[in-house]
Amino acid sequence: MSLLTPQPLQITEPPRRNDTRPNLVGLSRDQLKTLLAEAGLEPFRARQVWQWIYWHGVTDFAGMTNIAKKTRERLSELFLIERPAIVAEQRSVDGTRKWLLRFADGNEVETVNIPEDDRGSVCISSQVGCTLTCSFCHTGTQPLVRNLSAAEVVGQFMIARDSYGEWPTPIETTRMLSNIVMMGMGEPLYNFDNVATALRIVMDEQGIALSRRRITLSTSGVVPMIAKVGEVLDVNLAVSLHAVSDEVRDTLVPINRKWPIAELLAACADYPGARNSRRITFEYAMLRGVNDSDADARELVRLLKPIHAKVNLIPFNPWPGAPYECSSNNRMHRFAEIVNEGGLSAPIRTPRGRDILAACGQLKSESLRRRGERVRDLEAKVDTR
Ligand code: SAH
Ligand code: SF4
Repeated sequence: MSLLTPQPLQITEPPRRNDTRPNLVGLSRDQLKTLLAEAGLEPFRARQVWQWIYWHGVTDFAGMTNIAKKTRERLSELFLIERPAIVAEQRSVDGTRKWLLRFADGNEVETVNIPEDDRGSVCISSQVGCTLTCSFCHTGTQPLVRNLSAAEVVGQFMIARDSYGEWPTPIETTRMLSNIVMMGMGEPLYNFDNVATALRIVMDEQGIALSRRRITLSTSGVVPMIAKVGEVLDVNLAVSLHAVSDEVRDTLVPINRKWPIAELLAACADYPGARNSRRITFEYAMLRGVNDSDADARELVRLLKPIHAKVNLIPFNPWPGAPYECSSNNRMHRFAEIVNEGGLSAPIRTPRGRDILAACGQLKSESLRRRGERVRDLEAKVDTR
């Protein structure tokens, strides 16, 4: 695919490093209530401020016009309404937009919007880098720097809304930014608390008001956390399966050595709604000669039969130095046919934003840190064995 001419940089004001005022973005409603009460504001102010931030999208207390000027001034003395800074915006020939965002400490992530005719999915990152090292994923070559805060997760969606001018919150049917997929950089279930706080903010009806049916969380297979996603968020679940034997999955998605396929699928079968109306999406990157045989397709059908599942076949997206190739078109179609004949929907996804490295598994930022204690802490938190 041809490369675009470089897009103009769109620099926004960076978050203020030395500013000690707390950011109101990313607080749960209860946290916001407590903070404002501690500052001596009346209890109903929290609802007003919430609506200004998440329904109207204001970035400054001065815009909160139903709050007395004096109170607004006090609010801005005490608090910030802060989003990440946009370092760069790139636009693909297919309309996909990618933002490189920078946080107050200088770390960066990428966020992508994938527009369709009358809707669009914003692909959000949960970590700077990733502790996991899936061998076909570009993000996996970037050691984890840190988890994102709830503010940094929800801030990504707010930036997308700013960019499309989608404030105040429009009615559901007219939204360009209609869906969120937690499919950017990082493993969301290794940063569950912050991701959950952010998604609860996004789902709040007095704010961004995105229905849980329009949110999909993708995991590489952090088995002990899957039930919690159902309990706490009940959003759509996607699972990065990519192989039908433990032998192959161990090499593609190394977390499989900790939680192998049988345990993963058992957790999926118990996911709320998985046995009736709601289907779990299984992502399957098509890798030439690795996981794309007829026998693999038949085994996929056998494995997923007990689960209310659908399959997304993702043509492998190349990145510099990647050790894999995408399966041929014929191979992918034959594979899809077998899975379809087995009774499972298995569309071959059209890659989006490949020319700007914005497609699945291509995201990466320059922020680097060596693996170490912090990584082990994150993993130990969910490792119940
Ligand atoms: N860490 C989570 C969320 C990332 S979602 C997870 O792994 O599920 C990104 C999706 O793209 C995952 O299904 C991932 O396995 C897939 N992917 C990664 N690299 C890819 C590549 N090069 N081509 C196609 N899909 C890829
Ligand atoms: Fe991390 Fe997901 Fe990439 Fe694996 S596929 S390295 S879990 S972002």
